[in-house]
Amino acid sequence: MDTEIVTIEFTQDNLTAAEDRLLREAGEVIRRGGLVAFPTETVYGLGGDALNPASSEKIYRAKGRPSDNPLIVHICRLEDLKKIVARVPEEAYKIADAFWPGPLTMIMEKADIVPLQTTGGLNTVAVRFPSHRVAQKLIEYSGGYVAAPSANLSGKPSPTRAKYVVEDMSGRIDTIIDGGDVGIGLESTIIDLTVTPPQILRPGYVTRQMLEELLGQVEMDRTTMQNDTGEAPKAPGMKYRHYAPKAELLIVEGEQETVIRYINENVTMRRKQGERIGVIATGETCAVYEADVVKNIGSREDRETIAKNLFRVLREFDDAGVDVIYSESFDTDGLGQAIMNRLLKAAGHRLVQV
Ligand code: AMP
Ligand code: MG
Repeated sequence: MDTEIVTIEFTQDNLTAAEDRLLREAGEVIRRGGLVAFPTETVYGLGGDALNPASSEKIYRAKGRPSDNPLIVHICRLEDLKKIVARVPEEAYKIADAFWPGPLTMIMEKADIVPLQTTGGLNTVAVRFPSHRVAQKLIEYSGGYVAAPSANLSGKPSPTRAKYVVEDMSGRIDTIIDGGDVGIGLESTIIDLTVTPPQILRPGYVTRQMLEELLGQVEMDRTTMQNDTGEAPKAPGMKYRHYAPKAELLIVEGEQETVIRYINENVTMRRKQGERIGVIATGETCAVYEADVVKNIGSREDRETIAKNLFRVLREFDDAGVDVIYSESFDTDGLGQAIMNRLLKAAGHRLVQV
């Protein structure tokens, strides 16, 4: 299959007439059962008609994703929520009022109209209303309901720029919309509203504290930060190997000076054995490592930059030809929870405390 790549500059709030036409055409592709990758504020999504079971099956095939891993349904108007969920709980309106459109996904009981192919066989459906204008327009022109997982091959880091979508999806889908780099860089927060108290299944830009301020008590699925709980994650997708770079990845946690010393000692030792070593460092520390490839993931003073750079850095290490990567660790308050959740998954939970 030939994949068409279209670019939407989208520098101001309004689309040009030509951009609007391109999005209408892409919407037509989805209406006819095709697949279109598109930018959102979190990561690039791979969209198909959420109400067409054949489209969802195509998404699983294109990603190489297990079909028990449900897709998030994207909408572009709050009033459209009623059609795809059996009942809208009161908290959903509160959350929508505070965080929609935005990087937050809610899980509710599904309506019959949503095919089981889209929900991975579950009676619940995950719904998000993204804030990215290109995404909103595409969803509108696609008929209002777009199932869209991240637009990467299963197991790879989620794409934060169109180049990575092209690498993973060329020849597998109809269209890729290049809308430049995404803003947040980590996938949406997922909150399950079918349980009391509500439970966070995947941490993201909207943090537990932000949700608790609004709703009172909110729980965190314990499997988001630990892998030795003996429990299966409640978001089926979280149980799969994720984001892993080709090289072995090890997270080192401790006082900054100790971490630097530990990593540099290991670099010296392993290089003698002929290995090439990479380090994921921060703006504050990237000059002090003696490894073959050192990447600055962002500043500790500005964790939004770390969130934004994480998946790109993991992908870049695949081209860097290193055997092992040491990464610094991050505090797990606020946005740090989402950062460490993704980093731990990428490392297969290999963490050394020094
Ligand atoms: P992605 O589409 O790549 O952002 O991943 C979507 C995530 O949402 C996966 O981890 C899914 O398992 C999870 N998810 C989607 N729908 C549901 C649902 N109905 N119940 C629980 N988790 C869900
Ligand atoms: Mg994904």
